[in-house]
Amino acid sequence: MHNKSVAELSRALEQGTVSSVELTRQFLDRIRCEDGKYNSFITVTEDQALADARAADEQRANGNATPWTGVPFAHKDIFCTRGVRTTCGSKMLENFVPPYDATVTANFRKAGAVCLGKTNMDEFAMGSSNESSYFGPVTNPWGAKRVPGGSSGGSAAAVAARLIPAATATDTGGSIRQPAALCGVTGLKPTYGRVSRYGMIAFASSLDQGGTMARTAEDNALMLNVMAGFDPKDSTCVDRGIPDYTATLDEPLKGLKIGLPKEYFSEQLSPAMEQQVRDAVKEYEKLGATVKEVSLPHANLAIAAYYVIAPAEASANLSRFDGVRYGYRCEDPKDLMDLYTRTRAEGFGNEVKRRILVGTYALSAGYFDAYYLKAQKVRRLIQQDFINAFREVDVLMSPTSPSPAFVQGEKSTDPVTMYLEDVFTIAVNLAGVPAMSVPAGFIDGLPVGLQIIGDYFSEARLLNAAHQFQQVTDWHQREPN
Ligand code: GLN
Repeated sequence: MHNKSVAELSRALEQGTVSSVELTRQFLDRIRCEDGKYNSFITVTEDQALADARAADEQRANGNATPWTGVPFAHKDIFCTRGVRTTCGSKMLENFVPPYDATVTANFRKAGAVCLGKTNMDEFAMGSSNESSYFGPVTNPWGAKRVPGGSSGGSAAAVAARLIPAATATDTGGSIRQPAALCGVTGLKPTYGRVSRYGMIAFASSLDQGGTMARTAEDNALMLNVMAGFDPKDSTCVDRGIPDYTATLDEPLKGLKIGLPKEYFSEQLSPAMEQQVRDAVKEYEKLGATVKEVSLPHANLAIAAYYVIAPAEASANLSRFDGVRYGYRCEDPKDLMDLYTRTRAEGFGNEVKRRILVGTYALSAGYFDAYYLKAQKVRRLIQQDFINAFREVDVLMSPTSPSPAFVQGEKSTDPVTMYLEDVFTIAVNLAGVPAMSVPAGFIDGLPVGLQIIGDYFSEARLLNAAHQFQQVTDWHQREPN
């Protein structure tokens, strides 16, 4: 059963060949036996999961089930879960038990899905390797000592290792797509504003977006059906109709116009990675798509702009962790200033501190114009690049990451090298458009991902393109051993 997709598990529950309690027990057993190798979960909610599974079985028996009723899944530990500790990978929130659910959490609850626990992540979602988690690094199921990518590395590793069929994730600069690529699973970052951020712990609010991770595109569509939609509790959430994302998966791709951004196929790209992507694009041509080169002239400025804007917003968002309201508090503070400084010095890890310092600097009087304002102007140019490209083509394709999974420790001492992991993913967040990563081959036994980028609110088209690719390839079904 653990090899089955969400769609298949849902059908099995519907036909009564398995109960939710049985399924939940099986996945809990797998987590218990296997996760010692990966450390992909921070918290496993065994009792709650079994109680929810029993309720789901009753609901099915009463004939009012949704496709998710009784299906096990997990949440990235950035989504607030009422009564269940939510750490965001930080010592600061090690013992934080939210009194409320994030909208995404509430939506899965309403759909009857069974949450088995909270997945590991880089601290406050800052990182590309899951090495900055206070709860220890996550190991990629495809290679001992390899990173799973980050920051949603726990979700990606858990899905790849078949500990769970699907998991939520978030993406501020690539944190869904890059770990999905490195672990050989399928992930979608929706359009900014498509999925509510209410109760999703904030990193950089103008970039953060919740999204989906599973092995198949179809399962990502099933997840998005639950997650997408207007939420009055998030002022940036867009009030716009949501399609049934599974309804258009089978549409033929004949006539689909694919653009290959020439800036993403420069000399820096390794020949092996380029080959994998070009082979994937050939599959699309066989499916009836046409391909042309396009340009995103400001693509090379994306990382620089992001590493001003994201830390600036993070420094503001993280000011709430002061030892007074909630979260970690230092022992025996001498006075208020001592309480603030020691709480933050002891509660945050190095990467988070680095971002707070960079962000505070970029926002300070005298530097604001030179850094933050300048970065915002660059951001607008990057957005315009995408608007122009989508006048010519329907989707853009590129590698998701510059290389497959690297070895733990290889990049963690050099932040700039680590930041370059996101060269292909970050511009998408700055523009706010949706994008996916789809398994598209292997290099030296390690998975690589194809990134598919779409115009605003074109999630259905992206899922359709990914699903059609998965009908003619089996990269997404390969299993690590
Ligand atoms: N790796 C990027 C960073 O460290 C993106 C992280 C993310 O998307 N949450 O900021």
